[in-house]
Amino acid sequence: MLDWLLVAQTENDDPLQSVTNFFESATWEFIVLLGYFLLVVVWLSCAYWVFKDARRRIDDKIVLVVAALTGLIFGPLGALVYAIVRPPEYLDDVRERELEMRMMEQRLASEERCPFCRTPTREDYLVCPTCGRRLRTVCSSCRKPVDPQWRVCPYCEAEVHSGAGEFENAYR
Ligand SMILES: [Zn+2]
Ligand SMILES: [Zn+2]
Repeated sequence: MLDWLLVAQTENDDPLQSVTNFFESATWEFIVLLGYFLLVVVWLSCAYWVFKDARRRIDDKIVLVVAALTGLIFGPLGALVYAIVRPPEYLDDVRERELEMRMMEQRLASEERCPFCRTPTREDYLVCPTCGRRLRTVCSSCRKPVDPQWRVCPYCEAEVHSGAGEFENAYR
């Protein structure tokens, strides 16, 4: 009777026992270790990605350190938050765009324009190539382009006559 009970009990315990055995086995230990290992790899990858990306986008040293720490401490979650709040542009792109804008501003500032139609002109143009209006007259003495506002030609010291007739006679 006692023997039978013992056998029955052993048989009843068997499925659970095998599960317990499995969790105590070397295989399970290996799986857990592998899990931890993968977690560490993913975690460090996230931290590294945040640091690498932040270095290309963030100029401020303190903000950069905060971003890197966020990646290191919060892992994938930190990387996700960083991806949402990070600056949208790379520093190189920002610098390049600023340089381009500064160059364009300089070009615009140094560029002369027709006062009537805003076409870019050069300082030796006599008429605007677009609207054909008179921009300069020519010096009657040295034939260089001079501003009709000028009283004296800066090249030859001759007096500038800015009458409308002079324009036609001098140039056409
Ligand atoms: Zn014009
Ligand atoms: Zn002159």
